[in-house]
Amino acid sequence: MSRFLMQRFAGLHAYTPGEQPQDMQYIKLNTNESPYPPAPAVFDAVNANEVGKLRLYPDPEGKRLKEKLAALYGVKAENIFLSNGSDDILNFAFLAFCDDTHPVLFPEISYGFYSVYADLYGIQAKKIPLQYDFSIDITPYCNADGMVVIANPNAPTGLLLPQQKIEQILQSNPEHMVVIDEAYIDFGGTSCSNLIEKYDNLLVVQTFSKSRSMAGARLGFAIASAQIIEDLNKIKYSTNPYSINRLTLAAGEAAVDSNQYYIDLCEKIISTRTRTVTRLREIGFTVLDSAANFVFAKSNGIPGGELYCRLKEKGILVRHFENEKIKDYIRITIGTDAQMAICVDQLEQLQKEYANENG
Ligand SMILES: *Cc1c(COP(=O)(O)O)cnc(C)c1O
Repeated sequence: MSRFLMQRFAGLHAYTPGEQPQDMQYIKLNTNESPYPPAPAVFDAVNANEVGKLRLYPDPEGKRLKEKLAALYGVKAENIFLSNGSDDILNFAFLAFCDDTHPVLFPEISYGFYSVYADLYGIQAKKIPLQYDFSIDITPYCNADGMVVIANPNAPTGLLLPQQKIEQILQSNPEHMVVIDEAYIDFGGTSCSNLIEKYDNLLVVQTFSKSRSMAGARLGFAIASAQIIEDLNKIKYSTNPYSINRLTLAAGEAAVDSNQYYIDLCEKIISTRTRTVTRLREIGFTVLDSAANFVFAKSNGIPGGELYCRLKEKGILVRHFENEKIKDYIRITIGTDAQMAICVDQLEQLQKEYANENG
């Protein structure tokens, strides 16, 4: 810390991203990226012609991409907001819709960034405990006293909250924003984007990082009432109007045009997930029912931190969280069938080794 940093940031705990080793020596199952490449059309879109145009600023509105997304989700272009990754949208929502007298509510176990944004802006964060089975009881979110943020499916549990329960939260909070972070919705849920006409307090957040194999491109979008989109644009145009670069816009358009390719990939990942869950349970793991491209699993005996380290020694990266309530678990991204077979084999092996060592 330099002597110039303002005191209010001295205690800020920044988000810790998952490891991104730059050599490819690991089977990388730690940050929920897709194991499959973007659609062929995306390769064609990011071409020499597009690179030539890099001397020009990109379209700050991203008009073409907005129109394509609007058509795909059955809304109008004025209902779409584009951003440099969906983290930007969450950032803007905390900044725009909360302050030191307008708190935010979110599950105690959820995407780690929510509490970072609350800290950054001095917003009171009401962290609502999950139930014993890691599911979300909606009662504390109904008639709330601030913005509600829920990842659906939740991370890192992978559990899905049914849309009818989200509607109850929306109905009971007409004076508060309800943000539904749908980073993983394509792996088994139904998007709430169809509810934006009915609820003008709903902000749906999505990303190209997971189901569209474009984490490296940094592209996120939101779906909401035209008024909410206007608010988000006010913040965007007050910070960085050109936040989405030309290559990413071109890639995004091609990705939306290739929707069927991604639907097929999601189906493939879902069937790999089903097989992985079955095998993990067979070897004695406790595994939550996932509607995402990862599974949250606990060994019968080996603590989560130990599992993480031993898997890393064997060349497999997964994610472990220090939090007391989930320290026994690891989060494993669903890779290819071959990667998951290796991962489960190694876990089975580890359980045997551990049992021998610990009598
Ligand atoms: C990955 C993830 C994001 C962020 O995605 P980007 O678009 O890559 O910024 C947001 N929310 C959740 C719950 C995520 O897991």
